[in-house]
Amino acid sequence: MQFNLSSMLSNSARRNPTNAFLVTSETRHTFAEMEARAGHAATVLARHGIRLGDRVILRLPNRIDFVPYYYGLLRLGAVVVPVNPGLSAREVDVISEEAGVRFAVVEDEDAVELPTSVVRLNLGALLAEEATCDETTPAALVDGDDTALVIFTSGTTGRPKGAELGHQQLFLTALLEGDEFGITSEDVTLGVLPLFHVYGLSGILHSATLRAQAIYLMDAYSTAAVFDAIEHHGVSVLIGVPTMYHAMVTGDRAGRDLSRARIAVSGGAPMPSETIRALDGLFPGITYLEGYGMTETCSSGTVNGGPYPFREGSIGRPLWGIELAVVDASETQLPLGPEHVGELVMRGHNVMKGYLDAPEATRETLCDGWMHTGDLAWIDDDGYVYIVGRAKELIIRGGFNVYPREVEEVLRLHDAVIDAAVVGRPDPHHGEEVVAFVVAGPDGIDAAALIAFSSERLAAFKYPREVITMDALPQGATGKIDKQRLVTLATEAWQ
Ligand code: ATP
Ligand code: MG
Repeated sequence: MQFNLSSMLSNSARRNPTNAFLVTSETRHTFAEMEARAGHAATVLARHGIRLGDRVILRLPNRIDFVPYYYGLLRLGAVVVPVNPGLSAREVDVISEEAGVRFAVVEDEDAVELPTSVVRLNLGALLAEEATCDETTPAALVDGDDTALVIFTSGTTGRPKGAELGHQQLFLTALLEGDEFGITSEDVTLGVLPLFHVYGLSGILHSATLRAQAIYLMDAYSTAAVFDAIEHHGVSVLIGVPTMYHAMVTGDRAGRDLSRARIAVSGGAPMPSETIRALDGLFPGITYLEGYGMTETCSSGTVNGGPYPFREGSIGRPLWGIELAVVDASETQLPLGPEHVGELVMRGHNVMKGYLDAPEATRETLCDGWMHTGDLAWIDDDGYVYIVGRAKELIIRGGFNVYPREVEEVLRLHDAVIDAAVVGRPDPHHGEEVVAFVVAGPDGIDAAALIAFSSERLAAFKYPREVITMDALPQGATGKIDKQRLVTLATEAWQ
């Protein structure tokens, strides 16, 4: 079937030309305007030699121009490789090589040095050409299975991998995910998650494009700016990661009217139960939903809340057409029954085509269509899934499995703890030792008291034997806690 993802924009612009699409504190851009710009941007990009199938880096922050150039590239049938503007020249080098990139669209002031094999296209020059261009390039015919995007994973557990995602699967995800979240064409979505990551692209950009619905675009997170967006710019849907919600519930809300926010979606990392409970106090009556997914699954594969009752601690049930199972993570890979912890595997239209040009990595991850998530989970009798942690972050102390998330939840119960992250470091006696990193409230924390507090609530093999206080937990570019860094710190502190 022929299908170009960019037709979502064309279709919404045809049916709802005057609807607001991209809004900032100062500007408002309609669907008709963005569709016209994408058509002209495609013409300008083609004049620079970009053709069907070319792989093109799009390295822009969350700014209005991201959108016409993103859809302009898709219109040409080019493969977009969205890249975090914060990545170093070395990191961009690796991506360019792995993805066989031929062009890169970057901001003029971006000092990144690109490999000589990549043609640099400065946004400023493109915009100047676009301003005098009145030729609209129609969408190239592509097969629905053709690759639209190569998105590199967050690199939380190692070197990022380029997941190849097709036009049609991204479309289905935008359709199903947004419906499940309950987003309507009247909503204004908070657009603060980076658009270079799959969660922002699917959950925010694609979903809004498809529904002819507005995005309030922001290029950096600040709690005050988010509260302003809700209070003064009609933002009704929040799509974020746990670190953002944590900042909101602990932020200054004095005198604010935040009642416009009606839906809050979290995903990308485990959401602490404490934060979920605090959300209702901040946004009275808000519907909280949690999605779970990965770059390799076009964003959400499950949702908790929405059509089914919310269950605490769960990531919910799979979206339509997606199957989940838990298998023995050791050699056998046999399916496990309800309530047994194993590796979560996923199958459906949303699973990536593979890792780009990496057949071996693809073979290890995709078996008979089942995507091995690398996450440990169990499923209850009603099909709700509970993530216990990443296989790579599992701590094995004296032969017993310790799931960091469970320990973190206990630490957060302590009044003096604002945030907590638990990792393992090598230990000669137990194989690994459990180490807690905590962010303390204004009165500080007594490590011995916190260890005693956890020992009363956790089995002897689980509670942390070391507590290290930090001002803030280190984060990766997509707002996830950088546990690799914490393992290094814990190991250094011990040696
Ligand atoms: P890399 O694969 O490069 O190590 P990454 O896995 O963090 O990085 P992403 O694709 O951005 O890259 O994230 C997917 C992962 O995020 C999932 O495999 C899971 O571990 C975690 N995750 C996503 N949503 C949730 C959630 N709701 N609860 C717990 N974990 C989640
Ligand atoms: Mg991953």
